[in-house]
Amino acid sequence: MTVPSVVIIGAGVVGAALADELSARGWTDVTVVDQGDVPATGGSSSHAPGLVFQINGSKTMTEMARYTVEKFVELDSFHQVGGLEVATTPKRLAELHRRHGWATAWGIETHLLTPEESAARHSLLDADKVLGGLYIPTDGLAKAVKAVDAQLTRARERGVRVLARHEVLDIRTEGGKVVAVVTDQGEIAADIVVCCAGIWGPRVARMVGMNLPLTPLAHQLAWTGQVPGLAGQTVECSRPILRHQDADLYFRERFDTLGIGYYGHRPMPISADDILSVDEAEVMPSVLTFTPDDFAEAWSDTQELLPSTRSAKVEEGINGLFSFTTDHLPLMGESPEVKGFWVAEAVWVTHSAGVGRAMAEWLVDGHCTTFDLHECDVNRFEPHQVAPDYVRARGCQNYVEVYDIIHPLQPMREPRPLRTSPFHPRQQELCAAFLEASGWERPQWYAANAPLLSGREIPTPGDWAARYWSPIVGAEAQATREGVAMYDMTALKRLEVSGPGAVAFLQRLTTGDVDKSIGSVTYCLLLDHDGGIRSDVTVARLGAQEFQVGANGNLDLDWMERHRPADVFVRDITPGTCCIGVWGPKARDLVQPLTVTDLKALRYFRGARTHIGNVPVTMLRLSYVGELGWEIYTTSDMGLKLWDTLWEAGRDHGVIAAGRGAFTSLRLEKGYRSFGTDMTFEHDPYEAGLGFAVKLDKGDFIGREALLARKESVTRRLTCLLTDEVVMGKEPVYDGERPVGYVTSAAYGYTIGKGIAYAWLPASLADPGQAVQIGYFDRRVDAVVAEEPLFDPAMTRLRG
Ligand SMILES: Cc1cc2nc3c(=O)[nH]c(=O)nc-3n(C[C@H](O)[C@H](O)[C@H](O)COP(=O)(O)OP(=O)(O)OC[C@H]3O[C@@H](n4cnc5c(N)ncnc54)[C@H](O)[C@@H]3O)c2cc1C
Repeated sequence: MTVPSVVIIGAGVVGAALADELSARGWTDVTVVDQGDVPATGGSSSHAPGLVFQINGSKTMTEMARYTVEKFVELDSFHQVGGLEVATTPKRLAELHRRHGWATAWGIETHLLTPEESAARHSLLDADKVLGGLYIPTDGLAKAVKAVDAQLTRARERGVRVLARHEVLDIRTEGGKVVAVVTDQGEIAADIVVCCAGIWGPRVARMVGMNLPLTPLAHQLAWTGQVPGLAGQTVECSRPILRHQDADLYFRERFDTLGIGYYGHRPMPISADDILSVDEAEVMPSVLTFTPDDFAEAWSDTQELLPSTRSAKVEEGINGLFSFTTDHLPLMGESPEVKGFWVAEAVWVTHSAGVGRAMAEWLVDGHCTTFDLHECDVNRFEPHQVAPDYVRARGCQNYVEVYDIIHPLQPMREPRPLRTSPFHPRQQELCAAFLEASGWERPQWYAANAPLLSGREIPTPGDWAARYWSPIVGAEAQATREGVAMYDMTALKRLEVSGPGAVAFLQRLTTGDVDKSIGSVTYCLLLDHDGGIRSDVTVARLGAQEFQVGANGNLDLDWMERHRPADVFVRDITPGTCCIGVWGPKARDLVQPLTVTDLKALRYFRGARTHIGNVPVTMLRLSYVGELGWEIYTTSDMGLKLWDTLWEAGRDHGVIAAGRGAFTSLRLEKGYRSFGTDMTFEHDPYEAGLGFAVKLDKGDFIGREALLARKESVTRRLTCLLTDEVVMGKEPVYDGERPVGYVTSAAYGYTIGKGIAYAWLPASLADPGQAVQIGYFDRRVDAVVAEEPLFDPAMTRLRG
């Protein structure tokens, strides 16, 4: 293959990392253009104070940060002084334990400290003000401009061109593909253009008609004069970088002064179009004038925590611009519409080298093997999530919440409600407790089910597991196994795949054999070329050339769009349709009288188009809760009628509406995996326990070749654990004192009467009976590996 010509727009810390990583892989026909001077271009990297705190709830982001640290150390662009996060409230102290758990799960060494130990690490701290700390020895200060310079120097040595003072004015495309970048100094031909333009990203993306969901926000950074406690310090920094998240503050030393960053002020978004040019800007384009009033509280909180600053002064400050997204994660990948236009946007210095590596692997190899990128793909969003109002509102909210303690189930507060299923009015009447999924209002449980609690012993979980929870969740789960329940499954993505080439297309894209009779349903996987799981899907054949695919999200649609030939059509039918799961031993009693279709003859994993009363429906005999029943789909206009018809008929059978809390518990009792939580791009089907969904003998499919090699080398397994206490997910698992893995999903099993946790463990520790421990906040929870599934292994319920 001839090496393509690449233009990288932006010589900030991201563009520089990409140029280095691409050229290291032999792609040297690369041009980096920047409107500013290089290496201090005037972008965000030019004034970033460079604190690198690696711990993140996201495994991928933590791993990208770790790679950045390692690379910057090698480039002599890093002061590895360590990081210290302190707690001044009991809630924060618990959060530090949670963060210690994440760090341990993702393989970063951290230490929990007493107040005295914290003050011993950072002598400016008032030990009386803190309840404890979390120390991360490998954190530190990145020298962003130096790192830009070092990476561009290496790239130049390999043949990369770096053009300063070249402003990109346009991007030329032909036939839906990029061909050139137009600068104020002429045109540069390109097969691939990568937008690393930081806060200018939306402006550059618009040149190819792409709507980049990113908001530039101003962030306050102030510098003190001399701090007495630092007087005489001749090195730039010697103490750990410091975070005081309870007051939205972070600190770094600069010789005998302190830099103070603050997230507690009002959000100050700006449009990418309003950023001044390099020549117009007083200091630099990404620096706005400091607004001292917004900093007043930050300064008093600083003086409270660090007494030595009481006799110092704030001498300078900036309102510096950088990018926020709707979910705190970067934007990476190729435009869905314009081939060859890629973005690497909304990236902190902290993750920059990791992102550079990921992008280079993706471009050169066609996929990234080092990091799981499903959370970062720019094509992950639902259409409403790129609406300008949404992007701005979420960007502002995320700014405010940067250091907040966020529960994994905590729904966004604004803007809501956005998407409601046709059943919403009935759910409101039943006093549903709504959470949010992909914008959909989704019941977690129904307060109207409180009478179900009578005569049941539902154990109350501790700590965090008791939030966004009610004992009604347990009652709904048990009632599903005893009788029949209706679940709103509308939020699940549904794609229609049709056309003359549909069969061949799905045979190539999935691991299953979908070329079966009309009415068949196949559970299978979408794999990447390296054999990693991109999604798990149910493929229902509804016609000779027509399939309905139950998918996980927009990335599945994007993946299909990228691979579909001209004789295949892929349509997202989620918004125009809705779905009720009717499940439980009495499901057939409820539904059979409403349809002429013989439901006994409709076997497990078969589907049919029929009617429920007056409502035209597609029924698929599937169940993620492990009970007899159907996913019943109809168009949105008939949705309410479908609900009412089932509800009315269900009265005689004691039907209830049940929420997502019950669903999750029942799903885990049956051992059904959830993509994105239990398995992601980095896992293959064999280690995830999904080998049964791979038909290696059906002919070629994407990922098959890679799987043949991976099949023989399974060293880790997604493993079922039983616990006495309910945990949350993302906790470390220990074998003695040794961290050996991490939890993915967890819930209480209300049928089996035990806590359930799925976890990635070394294969050598995945045999039933193996005892391990889960690190849950400040304690250890005993767990034992169990045979799965925990409920109805003979499948008598589902096949009955
Ligand atoms: C005050 C402040 C404090 C921060 N603190 C930290 C911190 O402690 N730790 C951390 O990890 N992160 C921090 N950040 C965030 C971090 O600085 C940024 O996320 C990061 O630098 C972004 O890098 P980038 O390469 O994407 O963007 P940039 O550095 O902005 O680079 C983008 C480049 O694109 C160029 N460009 C744009 N449009 C065009 C065009 N049309 N033609 C040619 N060139 C163009 C620009 O000139 C610019 O050089 C901070 C940010 C600010 C503002």
